[in-house]
Amino acid sequence: MKTSLLEKLCCPQDKSDLHLEVFNQEGDDIREGMFTCPNCNRYYPIVYGVPIMTPDEYRQKALEEPLLKKWGLQLNDKEKRFMLVEKA
Ligand SMILES: [Zn+2]
Repeated sequence: MKTSLLEKLCCPQDKSDLHLEVFNQEGDDIREGMFTCPNCNRYYPIVYGVPIMTPDEYRQKALEEPLLKKWGLQLNDKEKRFMLVEKA
């Protein structure tokens, strides 16, 4: 996704501004990254340049876990929401 689209994105759940961590960027194109919402603590990954911002019920933790591992992040699977375990 283009960096110019960033400011138009907000949390689909509560419309809060999102925090972005970029893991892989080519020019102004973000290939891999992670949005987090400071309000509801949900996360939304960017995979192959596409932000995954679908509602909780259409996402699968089993599919996202390997991705998070690759990025050194950990899924908080005690929560129904898609949240990360806080880094120590
Ligand atoms: Zn939110």
